[in-house]
Amino acid sequence: MNERSHERKLTNLAEVTLTIGLNLQETQTLNINADLDAAPFVRKVTEIAYKKGARHVHVNWMDQEISKLKIKHAPEESLSEFPDWSKHRSEELVKQKAAFLSIRSTLPEAFSGLDPDRVGTFMKTSAMELQQISSARKSGKIAFCIVCVPNEKWAQRVYPNVTPEEALDKLWEAIFQMTRVDCDEPVEQWKAHIGSLLSKVDELNAKRFKQLHIEAPGTDLVLDLPDQHLWVGGGAVTQEGLFFTPNLPTEEVFTAPKKNGVNGTVKSTMPLIYGGTAIEDIELTFEAGKITNVYASKGIETLKHLINSDDGSHFLGEVALVPEDSPIAKRNTIFYNTLFDENASCHLAIGSAYPLCIEEGTNMTSEELNQAGLNTSITHVDFMIGSPEMNIDGIHPDGRREQLFQNGCWIKKN
Ligand code: ZN
Ligand code: ZN
Repeated sequence: MNERSHERKLTNLAEVTLTIGLNLQETQTLNINADLDAAPFVRKVTEIAYKKGARHVHVNWMDQEISKLKIKHAPEESLSEFPDWSKHRSEELVKQKAAFLSIRSTLPEAFSGLDPDRVGTFMKTSAMELQQISSARKSGKIAFCIVCVPNEKWAQRVYPNVTPEEALDKLWEAIFQMTRVDCDEPVEQWKAHIGSLLSKVDELNAKRFKQLHIEAPGTDLVLDLPDQHLWVGGGAVTQEGLFFTPNLPTEEVFTAPKKNGVNGTVKSTMPLIYGGTAIEDIELTFEAGKITNVYASKGIETLKHLINSDDGSHFLGEVALVPEDSPIAKRNTIFYNTLFDENASCHLAIGSAYPLCIEEGTNMTSEELNQAGLNTSITHVDFMIGSPEMNIDGIHPDGRREQLFQNGCWIKKN
């Protein structure tokens, strides 16, 4: 690996994270949740953030090995407790309108072999702990962004046939390319990319489809869309009007299905890494929105825990479209990491919908969102369903069908 070019790309990634990801403002506070393995990149981001005029940069370190020890050895009841001070910390940062950045470097199966019940409780508590900021996120109070950086074990899982060092280099290179920072003017490139996602969003919003019909091997699913649904992609706007991009990379356009309007079956096409466990070959049946049958060839217990998190986790909250000819999909690599895999594949999310997927949604209470047809839940977990054999139709209110996807890609219009 050429150290100088690696350093330049790392700087580009930090620059894109702060400028495109968070749209960090002068004197704003930056809160970073980061895995220990990400430390060199966290330092780089911190340096650039201060140079851009950040007021404070707070780093909240996480470590899956420590979490693993808790899941293994801590008293049962402690797994469902979370401290008040942690909640107050988040509330305080939300009040200060801090920008929230997650820099993750996780292991694909950190919790494998642990008791799925204890892992399930731990994950549910983590989700509740994040709720405070998740409602602030969903209502546009704060800008937030997630990026992922490699570690050796993860790299070896993605590239098992090369040496650990080569695998790590390869994963860095893949991430630099997928996050579009492997170039001279990454911020300009990103603006162009976001522009093209926004024009797809405008096109879909003008259609006012009543339903989507998704078909692929093992999948035959009809999703009703709420009357006032909005397609979203490229980023979101805070209540103060700042445009930010929550996921780097991002290739998707998405909306929310109607909570009680999903019917049929769906089959996953990539492993889902959830709770440090790989869940494979998921098959779900939906009746009036509710998951009524669950199958997975691996990780079924963890999947069942996820679906039983609360009432809303029995329903869907997102349908996202990603063409098979997107740069990430074309790599044909399973990254065992949702951030990359979801941007390589059409996906659905179990759990809550984003309020920005409906007109005026960011000003609605949970009850109003429910009435408008949007699902609410403490959880939101994407699973991948895209394939080169996927066809998707949009169905107009008068029943007229319009083909959107053929063989996994957007229909090209002349
Ligand atoms: Zn998505
Ligand atoms: Zn999602």
